[in-house]
Amino acid sequence: MNTIYKPKGAAAEYGDYAVNIYTGCPHRCYYCFAPQVLHRDREAFHSCVGPRKDIVTELRRQLEREQITGKLVHLCFTCDPYPIGHDTTATREVIQTLKEFGNHVQILTKGDGSRDFDLLDGGDWYGVTISCDVPMANRAEPCAARPADRLYNMETAKCKGINTWVSFEPVLDPAAVLDCIKGCAYFIDRVKIGKMNYHPSDIDWAKFGREAVAACEEMGLDYYIKDSLRAEMDKP
Ligand code: SF4
Repeated sequence: MNTIYKPKGAAAEYGDYAVNIYTGCPHRCYYCFAPQVLHRDREAFHSCVGPRKDIVTELRRQLEREQITGKLVHLCFTCDPYPIGHDTTATREVIQTLKEFGNHVQILTKGDGSRDFDLLDGGDWYGVTISCDVPMANRAEPCAARPADRLYNMETAKCKGINTWVSFEPVLDPAAVLDCIKGCAYFIDRVKIGKMNYHPSDIDWAKFGREAVAACEEMGLDYYIKDSLRAEMDKP
């Protein structure tokens, strides 16, 4: 796989280009799809975490070879760019390299990316995933940062002039998502809203989708409904 690549399928709804920096992720979300995508043992994926071999060197080579510039690059799909408890210098170096070539980054994390806010500007995006409230997150995402801490970091990013966004996917608790939209809209620039895929759920997705749209419109929030949720809302 190329170091920087164009995502396909549902992942293409997140960005034109992407880089996956680490070999695994310690956050242990029960719904994590990355081990299947990477054909890796789930326990090994969560316990053996480090930067992909020569990630920064390979990225620089590809940027030079393919003259990739002026793009918004998503970090990351098959890992978290800020794995808690691990050295994230590789993320910092990836951001520096991408920006050196005239690109911007779109970060998505359940960790803490505040160490790199000094590298970001008004062309970059700092985003977090919110799926549920704290008690449920303690069970569903046991080793990730607490949802409130993720949002606090995002508010800090907003104060520094960085664009902010939230990925509401997967949705585990529709009420928590609606609360977040209404309570945090003042420091969110954009939201992307999906559903829960690949796991059973008794959530009424069409109802949730309509309520989420209404909440975003009430708060004047720029929103994008992912195709999977849109399909549920469009069912007759
Ligand atoms: S933060 Fe993302 S990559 Fe990490 S375990 Fe959770 S879903 Fe998987």
